[in-house]
This record gives sequence, C-alpha cells and structure tokens, in this order.
Amino acid sequence: MHGALPTRIRWLAGSLLLLLGALAGAAPLSTDVEHDAPIGRSTAFLQETGGRLDLAGALAAFRAGRFSPGDAAVLNFGIGARPAWIRFAVDNPASGPVTRQLSVETAWLDRVEVHVLHRGGVVAAYRAGDRLPFMQRQVMSRYFMFDHAFAPGASEVFIRVETPDPMVVPLYFESREASRLRQMEQQLSYGLVYGFLIALIAYNAILYASLRTTSYLSYALYLAAFIAMNVAYTGHGFAWLWPEATRWQQWSNPLLMVLYGSAGLLFAIRFLDLRVRFPRVRRAVLAYCAAGAALLAAAIVADSQRHALLVAFAFVFVFTLIMPVLGVAAMRAKQKPARYFLLAACAAMAGAVLTTLATWGFIPHNAWTFRAVEVGMLADATLLALALAYQFRISHEERLRAERLAQLDPLTGLNNRRAFYDLTSSPWSNALRHGHDLSVVLLDLDRFKQLNDVHGHAHGDAVLKAVGGVLKEGIRQGDVLARWGGEEFIVLLPETTAREAAALAERLRVAIAAMRVPREGGDTALTASFGVAQLEDRAGTLDALIAQADACLYRSKDEGRNRVTSCPARQRPALPGIEAASEAV
Ligand code: GH3
Ligand code: MG
Ligand code: MG
Repeated sequence: MHGALPTRIRWLAGSLLLLLGALAGAAPLSTDVEHDAPIGRSTAFLQETGGRLDLAGALAAFRAGRFSPGDAAVLNFGIGARPAWIRFAVDNPASGPVTRQLSVETAWLDRVEVHVLHRGGVVAAYRAGDRLPFMQRQVMSRYFMFDHAFAPGASEVFIRVETPDPMVVPLYFESREASRLRQMEQQLSYGLVYGFLIALIAYNAILYASLRTTSYLSYALYLAAFIAMNVAYTGHGFAWLWPEATRWQQWSNPLLMVLYGSAGLLFAIRFLDLRVRFPRVRRAVLAYCAAGAALLAAAIVADSQRHALLVAFAFVFVFTLIMPVLGVAAMRAKQKPARYFLLAACAAMAGAVLTTLATWGFIPHNAWTFRAVEVGMLADATLLALALAYQFRISHEERLRAERLAQLDPLTGLNNRRAFYDLTSSPWSNALRHGHDLSVVLLDLDRFKQLNDVHGHAHGDAVLKAVGGVLKEGIRQGDVLARWGGEEFIVLLPETTAREAAALAERLRVAIAAMRVPREGGDTALTASFGVAQLEDRAGTLDALIAQADACLYRSKDEGRNRVTSCPARQRPALPGIEAASEAV
C-alpha cells in the first residue's frame, strides 16, 4: 500500500490541474500527469479565413488573442472545413527532457503539421497526413503520432490540420506506454470485429458455394463491403494494405461508402425478393444506387474530394433509412423473415446514424459514438445470419409441403399412384427378403359413369371423396391405400394372406354398400367390385401382382359386381390344363 498514497496525490494534482485548465481556458499540460482523455479542452484553435497561414502568422494570431478556447474534448470542424491551427502549452517540471506522444486519432486527415516551440524558438517540426506515403511516418501507426522529448520548462505546440474530409481532431498527449496500451485495446477490439465478420463472410460464401442461394452471396458481399469501408476509414487499410497508394487513400473512403450502401441495398433486393414482390420498389432502389454512383463519379471527375464525401455521407445516411423502410414494407406484406431484417436494419441504422453524426460534428465524438457503427453492424450481421437461417428453414418446410402435396390426390386426399409406389417399396422388398406374406386389394366402383351421368360430375366427386373416407376408416395401420385412377382404389397389405385380405375387402365392400351420400332429392347408394391377389411369385414384380388383382377384379365385374374375388395361389397356370378357380367370399 506504499505506492497508493503518492498515486492518489498525483491523481488529485492531475485533476486539480485539469480543473484549473478548464477554468483558465488553456492551462499548460504537465508532463508529470498522465492525460488519458482527448485534450481538446486544453487547446485553443483558429480556422484560416483568407489564404494559408504559416507558423509565424499563426503565432502572431495567437499572441493577438484571435484563437478561441477548445470547446470540446474532441474538436470537430465538420466536412470540407477550412484548415485549422490548434495550439496548446506543455509544462515539464522535471529537470531533464520528458518524451510524450502526441497522437491525432483520425486516420483520414490529409495534412497534419506539428511545430514545437521552446523558449520562443522552433525546436521541432513534424509532418504527416495521408497525402504522404505511409512509410514516411515518424511512428508507424494508422493514426498520426509524434514522439517528442519536451525540454524542461514551458513549451508550446502548434498543430495545423487540413482535410476535405470530416475534420475531427481527437488529440491525445500521453506517455508512449499509455498510448501503446490504448492502441492495444483498440487493436484487440478491431480484431474481434473483423474476425467475427470475416468468419460470417467465409461461412456464407461456403453456404452459397454449396446451396447456390444468391442471398448468401449478396449477404457475404454486403459484409465484405462494410469491412472494406471500415478498414479504409480507420486507417487500417493504409497501414496494412496500400501504404504507398496515396491517391487511392484519398478516394477510398467515399468510394467504399457508396459501395457499402449499394451492397446493402442489393442484399435487401435479394433477401426480400423485391423483384417478385415489389418490382417498382426494386427499380427505385436500383435507380438510387445508380444516382449515387453517378454523382460520385462526377465528383471524382471534377476532382472534388469534398463533393465526393458529401455525396457518400448523404448516400449512406439515406441508405440506412431505406433499409428499415423496406423491412416495414416486407413485414406488412407478411414476409416471414422480415421481422429479423427490420430489427437488423434498425440496429445498423442506429449505429450508422450515431457514427455519422459524431463524425460530421453534430454530437460529441468519443469511442462510443465513433464506433457505434461497428456495434450496430455486429448486431445487424448476427440478426441477418439468423434471418437467412430462418428463411432457409421456411423454404425447406415449404419444399417438404410441396413434395407431400405432389403425392396426394387433390380430390380425395388419398395417396396418388406415385406415392403408392414410394410408400410400398420398403414393405414390398421386406416381404421378398424375409418371405413374408403380402397381398393387394384393387377395387373399382360399379357403374360409376352412370352415376356421373345421372347426378352430375360434382356429385360424382362427392361420392369419390366419401368412398375415400370409408376406405381410410376401414384399412389397418401399415396398409397402404391410394387412389389408383378414376374410380379405382388400391390397398397394399403387408403381412397378410389372400384369405385375410379378402376378409378385409369384404368389410370394405359392405361399408361402401352401406354408405349413403346425400344429394338434392335423396341419397346415393353404390357398390364396388374387388380383386385380391397374394404375393406368390417371389421373382415377380409389384406390377405383376397388381395385374393379378386386376384380373380378379374383372371376374367380380363379370360375375355381377358388388363382390370380392380372390385369386387362388399360383394363378399362373403352373400345371397346364388346370384353370384357375375363383373363390367368391
Ligand atoms: P363399371 O361398373 O364397369 O366399372 O362401370 P363404370 O361406369 O364405373 O366404368 P367406366 O370405366 O366406364 O367409367 C368410369 C367413370 O368414372 C368414367 C369417368 O367419368 C368417371 N370418373 C373418373 N374419374 C372421375 C372423377 O375424378 N370424378 C368424377 N365425378 N368422375 C370420374
Ligand atoms: Mg367402375
Ligand atoms: Mg373403372
């Protein structure tokens, strides 16, 4: 606990100095104190009005009291502002020089000049800005950092900043160690943001490669565009990817911003299926993207960075408003994943709006407001990933339902012929493999054409439906029932002999004969004829067995209808000359 008291005293002293500084407007920053917040309030500034002001001019202006006291921790002059001079004083109470790191933490400033004055003379001058190749920086950082050993006593620092971009100047003045720790925290958090987003991109690219669903691709592109834009405006791109490309560094911000907005809108078009659901909205959105690109191109041709940035900021701002509007429209159209989309769009919008306002100078600039867009984007990316997964589930379920519908006879709701073959393939092969019994019952309604002719086709339909219901009721679990065609039905009965099948057929015959279908002016009664065949020929096919049942059904018709005919074992004339006998139950 020995070190605690001096630390506290130093902290108190530091707070006192800060307080005094705030009261006096521009008290010198002591090298004895660690300043871990931006020092805007300890500075004074002057924006150039006429031509370029040199150091002597700035010094004279300061001495003449023309500088204004810094009114925020982070000075912000807005987009396309006139160059500004910022001045603060340093006091080194020690007997030897103390090195401090001055850090201007906006990656996109074009020109930053730093002049250090001691005892009335210029003792050092540094230059930086992203007009110069990255390798010329004194400190290899995405920000503009300057290490200076401050001589004992009073010094003055004059900084000139010039840029057409948002002129935000978060100034830090601290020990190299404190600065390094702060940068490390930032690097960690950027690592997390990029790592998360890159993993999502890779995952969705893989999904696209295997499923060929374009919304995964457009989602991956949207995230990639966000990373590209973020990498550019945070200065990571200049530091890591294009350290020599100063011209690209100038234009990358507006270009990548417009790209990001467009990628987001293209994703919305795909995801919300605007081509089909809202074709006019889709055309308007595409026109908006084209207009943004055209205005940007015009600004680039005119070599006006200021206009390019204004176009880009406005474009992204409106983009973040369009997204939730599209989400609301999709929700009103009862699109299922629209809720996720809307939530995601709102999260992204809140983040982007905060960051835009902070960068443009409408709200205070701090780590939370400046990096809100990243937080919003992480929420956006996560929610959209959920939305895509949800959409996948819905389409999967819809496909299953469609497949099932394709197997059902629409009139009776029974299996159709295709489903019959699907459903019987496994009991059929089981019966063959294990030598189990299996039978087929085929039935055909008697004089159905006549019924149609007398009472109309619609009533015929009602009768078919009613027969379907009776059959469904009458079969056992494990039996496969289907509408075989017109007014013919089929039942496959696993583990069943012809005798048992004939008994079941008889029950069905009685049930159909007892059935009454109401119509105008009375009830309809009808009968059906049945053919039953049992699996005997283990080398034969299901179709052959059905053909046998059909042959028996014909006999039922021949012998006066409304009856069950069972084909005897070995109906194929195994011994020539002996006729297959028929057995009426
Ligand atoms: P049989 O006793 O010899 O079987 O005589 P039938 O009149 O039932 O036989 P036929 O094969 O000559 O006629 C079958 C009729 O079934 C003809 C057709 O119009 C009718 N039919 C087939 N499918 C449908 C349908 O989906 N709805 C209606 N209402 N009638 C159908
Ligand atoms: Mg018939
Ligand atoms: Mg028929």
